Amino acid sequence: MESIRKPRGTMDVLAPDVYTWQYIESTARRVASKFGFDEIRTPTFEELALFSRGVGECTDVVQKEMYTFEDKEGKLFALRPEGTASVARALIENGKCSDTLPIKLSYIINCFRYEKPQAGRSREFEQFGVEMFGSSDAGADFTVISLAASLLTELGIGNISLHVNSIGCPDCRPSYRAALVEYFEKNADGLCDTCKTRLKTNPLRVLDCKCESCKKLAENAPKTIDHLCEGCKNHMDKLTAMLDACGLNYVIDTHIVRGLDYYTKTVFEFIAEGIGAQSTVCGGGRYDGLVKELGGPALPACGFAMGITRLILAMEQNGVKVPGKNAPALYIASMGQTAQIKAQEIVWNLRKEGIYAECDVVGRSLKAQMKYADKTGAMKVLIIGDSELESGRAMLRDMTGAMGENTQTEIEIAKVAEYLR
Ligand code: ATP
Ligand code: MG
Repeated sequence: MESIRKPRGTMDVLAPDVYTWQYIESTARRVASKFGFDEIRTPTFEELALFSRGVGECTDVVQKEMYTFEDKEGKLFALRPEGTASVARALIENGKCSDTLPIKLSYIINCFRYEKPQAGRSREFEQFGVEMFGSSDAGADFTVISLAASLLTELGIGNISLHVNSIGCPDCRPSYRAALVEYFEKNADGLCDTCKTRLKTNPLRVLDCKCESCKKLAENAPKTIDHLCEGCKNHMDKLTAMLDACGLNYVIDTHIVRGLDYYTKTVFEFIAEGIGAQSTVCGGGRYDGLVKELGGPALPACGFAMGITRLILAMEQNGVKVPGKNAPALYIASMGQTAQIKAQEIVWNLRKEGIYAECDVVGRSLKAQMKYADKTGAMKVLIIGDSELESGRAMLRDMTGAMGENTQTEIEIAKVAEYLR
């Protein structure tokens, strides 16, 4: 029979790779708690309208990349393409918007986007994200950016740079929008068909187009940063002053606009060198309008998301080695059924004490058991058979070579735990 394969653009993660995933996840959780962020868990699928309203009708994510389905009652849902809209919805739905501010939340989630699979881009992918609600001060932007920087450092990712931009607010956006439309209308011949439509619906999205001719035109387009109002300008200056004060390097990159519609003021990306075309490891910014857009109060917010697979590529590029599988502290080699039962009993008691121990469960010969113990990297091996059980004493062999010539000692079986510490 023909075997079934996983869907295109998804992945199976097995050992030893899974240790890298676990390492990133546990490091992310540790860093998030160091910055005072609580974890939040939300559903894998949501009403489709959440994303069309939250992420934006005109975005690639909503227009082309969403996995949508109808349930048995004919309701429209989507597998989440990102986390921010869900977190904002959950905050509103659970009446948390009036909690003591700021509200700081983090998550590790799988996301789904119908994209062309390639290195660093898949159809199901994992994101670590944080969201901070209730502060319009640049200190909040700084908090999330410094959290990302701290995590990247802890993961050993060195050659990465922070790109920061401001895309303004509803006060200064109209004048910028007008300048942008004027520029692109003059150069409309160079735009792709999608962008010709975008020019009417959402001209900012043209700046984010992946198509070469549009990218080229975008290079000389008017810059948001030249059209900022006083408030946005001060916000940007305060943020960069904080980055300067803490010695966090950054470049002002006027080309960064981000792919989602809800951003205002600060937008930023961490871009890794040498990991190929999908080099944006982390993307984020401020989204002061989202909570209100979703039916909540006017609650300013900012956050970011990083893709785990791109972190892995960057770690590989930086030659980072992560701790792998633990080796057993003890392997018990046994001969005969009575010894096998005793071995299980000892292993059970050791595991209860928090010690990682193994014994034979396959019925291997003594020689094969020793070979297997070696393969697992077991630190010590205890060898038991009928005569050992009778005398209560057995040989404990050191497998690490740490004891030099003296690699074997006779011990009291009942006291084996003491020899493992
Ligand atoms: P890109 O420009 O690469 O498509 P994006 O702007 O769509 O990114 P965001 O929606 O901001 O990305 O998501 C934040 C992060 O999630 C990205 O920086 C990236 O690390 C990761 N990411 C996004 N889409 C994918 C994907 N299809 N596969 C793997 N990781 C992804
Ligand atoms: Mg994308």
